[in-house]
Amino acid sequence: MKKNIGKILGTGLLVVLLFSGCEQVDQEPLPQEEPVEPAYSLSTPVELTGLRLDGRGLLIRTDNAEYGNQLFPVELLDLLDHGHQPEEIRETPEGLVRFVWKGHPVELEPGTGWYALDEELREAPGPSFWTGGQLVLHGELLAALDEHLDWVDGGLLLRTPVPPQARPQEITALAFWEQPGIQMLINRDHPIPAELDGIELINLNRTYPDMRYLRESMLLNEEAATDLAAMVREAENSPGVDRMLLVSTYRSYNYQREVLNRRIARFMNEQGYDRERATAEARRIVAVPGTSEHQSGLAVDFTSYELTGRGQTLTGAFYDTPEGAWLLENSWRYGYILRYPADTEEITGIVEEAWHYRYVGRPHAGIITRESLVLETYMAKLQEQQVLWTEEDDGSRYLVMYLDEELASKTMLDPERVGVSDSNEGGLILTMVWADGRES
Ligand SMILES: [Zn+2]
Repeated sequence: MKKNIGKILGTGLLVVLLFSGCEQVDQEPLPQEEPVEPAYSLSTPVELTGLRLDGRGLLIRTDNAEYGNQLFPVELLDLLDHGHQPEEIRETPEGLVRFVWKGHPVELEPGTGWYALDEELREAPGPSFWTGGQLVLHGELLAALDEHLDWVDGGLLLRTPVPPQARPQEITALAFWEQPGIQMLINRDHPIPAELDGIELINLNRTYPDMRYLRESMLLNEEAATDLAAMVREAENSPGVDRMLLVSTYRSYNYQREVLNRRIARFMNEQGYDRERATAEARRIVAVPGTSEHQSGLAVDFTSYELTGRGQTLTGAFYDTPEGAWLLENSWRYGYILRYPADTEEITGIVEEAWHYRYVGRPHAGIITRESLVLETYMAKLQEQQVLWTEEDDGSRYLVMYLDEELASKTMLDPERVGVSDSNEGGLILTMVWADGRES
């Protein structure tokens, strides 16, 4: 089932209308187990009006025609954090609703502010509802139930344990729409413009003189380079692993065009293919200009001395070298994925490449690797789930959100705390370190 944050709230209203529409039509006595019709239900929908991601956490704002910004369907919270979910919801014959929230018994009177938490009677400044099989709770009640939730600034705040920045910024997520970023999908169906000349490139040879390069002045995205250097350092300190050789990193649009044309010419001259067949074959192994990840500065081709010693560089035999095997096993911990694994040509459009790694950052590389995805199928998963919580092996917890244009227009964020990347396929990917490993 596709969970859509923007639309999920509309469903509540639909159910309410259906309920009120069929009242009293059937006069047959209901079986005992059937829930009693709620005494006080909500007749207008609660709509999501905005999200804000900053140093404090994730703030959710809603609106309702009758009760303004005070109400939150718990289904929405469940979507945003799997930890918040009422259990054992039931109605009493007196029309009260009982449930258990993280082990604490709660009882409320729908349509009023009265509730009991751990059998202590309290009153919220506004009502809560049990409507259409959904709990729609007042913000203050939710904040009382859950230590991680605050009822502030006309919204409900899911607090991060990471201490806030000294100078929090706040800008609209839309500012990042169609801006190139670390997680962007680049393939034949999702090319990048010829003018995109890498993303925040640095000179690797100059910045990291200890690494081994097959070319002068190799360029790479700065963040990808930091993780690359750390990854190569760890690899080369591992038993049996020799020096890693960097074959190719950033390549310009024009260079990619030359590579493709050279490959076509080779197929024509050496294999005797006609131009059409040579072009088709070349496109299976060389990305068409604008569809190469190398143009973004987020891709690295590796090889090893073992292979170059045999006169080879980019070959499937790289998997069998200690260097290639180490990367396959460990690259995800540094934000890199094997981009074109075996048996994925139908999805990626590129034949298997043992040497080509793509930087997508944490925690994305870990998710993709653990779940045997490729970037294409990961995008589809993000689009489907919209919100993803994940924990890495160092104990760090991450929040990943996928925003369509409408949700992006309702979202504010602090770019110092939230990583943002256009997906290059119609969405925006937000990444936030929710809790870092050292604290838990
Ligand atoms: Zn490559």
